[in-house]
Amino acid sequence: MGNILVITELQRGKIREASYELLSFAKKIAAAKGHSVCSVVLGKDVAAEAEAFAKRSGGPVYTVANPVLENYNVDAYCTAIQAAVDKAKPELILVSHTPSGWDFAPRIAARLDAGFVSDCFNIDATGDLVFVRRVFGGKMDARVAVKSTPVVATFQPGATEACQDSAAGSVEALDVAIDAGALRTKFVEVKAPQAKGVDLTKAEIIVSGGRALGGADKFKEVIEPLAEALGGVVGASRPVVDAGWLPHERQVGSTGQVVSPKLYIAAGISGAIQHVVGMKGAQFIVAINKDPDAPIFEVASLGVVGDLFEIVPALTKAIKAAKG
Ligand SMILES: Cc1cc2nc3c(=O)[nH]c(=O)nc-3n(C[C@H](O)[C@H](O)[C@H](O)COP(=O)(O)OP(=O)(O)OC[C@H]3O[C@@H](n4cnc5c(N)ncnc54)[C@H](O)[C@@H]3O)c2cc1C
Repeated sequence: MGNILVITELQRGKIREASYELLSFAKKIAAAKGHSVCSVVLGKDVAAEAEAFAKRSGGPVYTVANPVLENYNVDAYCTAIQAAVDKAKPELILVSHTPSGWDFAPRIAARLDAGFVSDCFNIDATGDLVFVRRVFGGKMDARVAVKSTPVVATFQPGATEACQDSAAGSVEALDVAIDAGALRTKFVEVKAPQAKGVDLTKAEIIVSGGRALGGADKFKEVIEPLAEALGGVVGASRPVVDAGWLPHERQVGSTGQVVSPKLYIAAGISGAIQHVVGMKGAQFIVAINKDPDAPIFEVASLGVVGDLFEIVPALTKAIKAAKG
């Protein structure tokens, strides 16, 4: 029987939903393996959030409160997390696969000479603990078992439900010295994004296109007319934005917008986990993809296997005809 340590993350002073999702994974593993769950909350003022987390986590919630932890700083975080590791002596350390998680998780693994598995979206705890991660653009799932301990694993935000349990955990403050003068990086500022032309988060109907469109002109020709016919707005997957076909405000996914429209149409989008976490909250999802095994069909309410360049214009025509 060992410990699992959940590293929580604060955003604007509140523990992120992703940390409660880590807790769900931690509890699933703990139940299967007879482990105990403990957690750590880092920040400037953390007492209230740590109490809230303890009420769902059970077990000890360690806190490290220090003004230098108000904004993310890798050196300060690693020092604070090391203190929690020394206290909990975990076999498994769970981190969210967020920009700060990408930064500190491998460093913690290196410090501890631990096994490291990144970007997981599931676990299988029925036998040896297996971490599941998507590879080759979502075409295959890799199942990874780590033979050594401890293990540091990062999990995709949105990969499971947030833990909603009621529990009676305890909060314990750790006294950690962090030498602000010795930090090799410093926080400069948070830059808020520019005001948006379109707010996808408020849209009731979104028609999104993916890499399969092949260019900005095809969005105008194929996707925009359908969005217009339905009274909706155009969204996109990340490669579309990376290629400069549409601005970032149109991107749906973990590094774009998280949307919850009544209707979401995904045309030529494979359904990578980073896209799915941004749109799986839609009430009705229509997926159009020529690959019957595309992962997008796993979350679709209605799936159409075929060529979007035939299906989308035909759909647009039918909707216009029905509207008269
Ligand atoms: C840290 C990180 C963050 C990320 N954040 C995001 C994010 O916020 N949002 C996001 O979307 N992605 C994000 N990604 C990228 C993500 O992993 C995928 O690479 C991306 O979502 C794939 O986009 P796609 O589905 O458009 O392209 P592809 O994966 O290339 O899929 C194209 C799909 O189109 C289908 N297709 C091809 N031709 C046709 C046709 N004629 N008709 C019908 N179907 C066709 C193919 O079968 C395929 O399924 C992120 C990745 C990382 C590592």
